[in-house]
Amino acid sequence: MGASAHASTDKYTQFVSRGLGKDLAKKLGLPQPAILRRYEPTAALLTGPVLVEGSSHGAEELAAKLLGWGLDVRRHATPKEKLGAIIIVLDELAHPDELSAPVRSVGASLRDLLPSGRIVTISRPAVDGLEPAVAAARHGVDGIVRSVAKELRAGATANGILLGGGVEPASASAMAALRFFLSGRSAFVDGQFLTAGTPGTLDAVDWERPLAGTVAVVTGAARGIGAAIARTLARDGAQVVAVDVPAAGDHLAAVANEIHGTALQLDITAVDAGQRILDLGFSRYGRLDIVVHNAGITRDKLLANMDAARWDSVIAVNIASQLRMNAAFLADGRFAKGPRIVSVASTSGIAGNRGQSNYAASKAGVIGMVHATAPLLAPSGGAINAVAPGFIETEMTAKIPFATREVARRLNSLSQGGRPEDVAEAIAFFASEAAAGINGNVLRVCGQNLVGQ
Ligand code: NAD
Repeated sequence: MGASAHASTDKYTQFVSRGLGKDLAKKLGLPQPAILRRYEPTAALLTGPVLVEGSSHGAEELAAKLLGWGLDVRRHATPKEKLGAIIIVLDELAHPDELSAPVRSVGASLRDLLPSGRIVTISRPAVDGLEPAVAAARHGVDGIVRSVAKELRAGATANGILLGGGVEPASASAMAALRFFLSGRSAFVDGQFLTAGTPGTLDAVDWERPLAGTVAVVTGAARGIGAAIARTLARDGAQVVAVDVPAAGDHLAAVANEIHGTALQLDITAVDAGQRILDLGFSRYGRLDIVVHNAGITRDKLLANMDAARWDSVIAVNIASQLRMNAAFLADGRFAKGPRIVSVASTSGIAGNRGQSNYAASKAGVIGMVHATAPLLAPSGGAINAVAPGFIETEMTAKIPFATREVARRLNSLSQGGRPEDVAEAIAFFASEAAAGINGNVLRVCGQNLVGQ
């Protein structure tokens, strides 16, 4: 954990993470947020051994692949041995009775999980048409993951992978999702599932610079989450076109210069926004591979007081522009080889939020758009996914009155707000070659926010 990570962790979290503050918080029963393990390109994927629970053929294959990643793999728990992660492979469930042995066995090892450790389940989704007992067993995993995530301490998280049709635990898309969950890239992702679809291959993946050779556009890149996305994609090897409104021109230029990218001053509600982005990508770099729709605005008002300007501007920026730009991208033959689109939604679009009917409509709309667009991109090997942030520490949330902000940032399983980088890491994962076959997902980056969960 570098010094920079401490510097941008909120003051309360720093105070209770050591010495007197830690003792005090414990005595008073105050939240004790941990300083999370976050991704650093040169750091180890995980510290401590990985226990793989499960006796299926899929579990065997998966354990062998983890050895190939240089991890210290255990097939049986050794009493008192500290663990970096526990992976529970439940790919052959036929009845809820079968959950008992593997899940209780994991329970017996939970106290040995290291700080910022990981629990990851691998199972199959409860799709329509299954035997009721099979569906019950499969859906049971959902309850287990979400509950265990709430029990874990010290920055540890629990997440799950759902295997799509024809996908096995050791298939490339499942392994890519597993690596994301094990790594510090998923620090603020807790109690969530990713569905792994059509398997590809991980043979040629460069884990240090997974976006090398790609060109990405990020909207709303002048500050906040968008600036973090631009920096993270550049760190992972992408050439970045950073887009924002002309009024944010100076900040935009600073971000673009810092990452040796290109600044494009553009209001994304312009009718020709998609075309202008494509034209710049192709004239400057000869390609465009990744689009991140991040720009967004809030104009909060209770619905009883909502005026047309507030409603219409939020819909125009947050969803109508994305629909129009995507239509332009998809109609252009140049953006055809396995394109990646990632949209920023919000937990407000999932759980709703008082005073945000316009914003929630736009963000729920993003989720609807992602589900409907995914099958259109699949034939070309492309993908569209959404990331739904919860409470993230940005200039926007810094303006929320102290008491409201303090409650909002603690109301999740990790008892802290996320950082813009946490959202950016999930987006970089979706944009990467390894995530081919992960399509149509909505991933919450919210520390398992208790709202709507
Ligand atoms: P922010 O206000 O700090 O940044 C948004 C950026 O988008 C700004 O630079 C702004 O100039 C730009 N932008 C706005 N309208 C634009 C337009 N028409 N054309 C081009 N650029 C435009 O916000 P943020 O906190 O960084 O949020 C980024 C995204 O994350 C948004 O979609 C937001 O809804 C979403 N989000 C944020 C949080 C949070 O806690 N901060 C939580 C959930 C979702």
